[in-house]
Amino acid sequence: MKNIAVIGSGTMGNGIAHTFAQFGYAVTLIDINNEALDRALATINKNLDRQVVKGTLTDAQKQATIHNITRSTDVKTGVSEADLIVEAATENLELKLKIFKDLAAFAKPDAILASNTSSISITQIASVTNRGDKVIGMHFMNPVPVMKLVEVIRGYATSDETTAQVMELSAKLEKVPVEVNDYPGFVANRILMPMINEAIETLFEGVAGVEEIDTVMKLGMAHPMGPLQLADFIGLDVCLAILKVLHDGFGNPKYAPCPLLVNMVMAGKKGVKSGEGFYDYSNGIKEAKVAAKFCS
Ligand code: NAD
Repeated sequence: MKNIAVIGSGTMGNGIAHTFAQFGYAVTLIDINNEALDRALATINKNLDRQVVKGTLTDAQKQATIHNITRSTDVKTGVSEADLIVEAATENLELKLKIFKDLAAFAKPDAILASNTSSISITQIASVTNRGDKVIGMHFMNPVPVMKLVEVIRGYATSDETTAQVMELSAKLEKVPVEVNDYPGFVANRILMPMINEAIETLFEGVAGVEEIDTVMKLGMAHPMGPLQLADFIGLDVCLAILKVLHDGFGNPKYAPCPLLVNMVMAGKKGVKSGEGFYDYSNGIKEAKVAAKFCS
């Protein structure tokens, strides 16, 4: 595999493009408009600079990484040469089904179609393509250039060959791939999201404030980041979408999203990417934010 297309250039897509490009792959990064691509390329540039300052990358390697990335707003031409397409668009079932229908039509017949979805069924995504054996979940963690795990999700029809190719490719990116089966939330989010939701519920019930909850989990459980800060980092809209998939998929009320999370997403408070979530990021620093009036 040499040519990679990445669909969606947001939080995850820019990190996935960055990582493939850093390891020498030719990457086409695709989004719906040039503004999104401008933001993505600026983020990649900033993150590469950070690696250069840390000494983990030379300036020449930074330039080579940037050189490996081509941008596009057209899926048809953007994916036509790709050996692997990693979809990292917004976590929405209808959108992903539409994208995978397009990929089935426009990608090379032997191209692998991967989704970075956090929770949506790979089997359902595969059902709208003409190649269920070549559809797979390739779930990178945020921030992609830093985090070692790739959760490799086998849909019902995913072949052994496709799984082996994606496991091998992940290792070439110096990641640790873990193979899991296709059930709601897979492994990572089935375990993580109930914890985040419970932290929000704890805030909502007025048991403790934002910083207190995060401090308990950081210092008490040795988590590098508290669950509310982590939710801001993931994106509150993404957390809500995943909880809905878990709730629908298992029919168990324990996965019902906390009303405070629902309200915050409806109010446009999506965390770091919107400048405000449980914390306020507008002054360039993290300050506890969520208003007490929203909590019971
Ligand atoms: P995001 O909102 O930051 O970015 C989504 C991007 O997709 C946006 O730039 C948007 O313009 C683009 N997009 C929407 N429709 C498109 C289309 N038709 N064609 C091309 N681009 C399109 O979202 P994100 O956090 O990067 O999440 C992307 C995917 O990764 C989701 O499936 C999410 O569940 C998954 N994921 C997210 C995280 C996380 O921490 N945020 C972690 C792992 C996996």
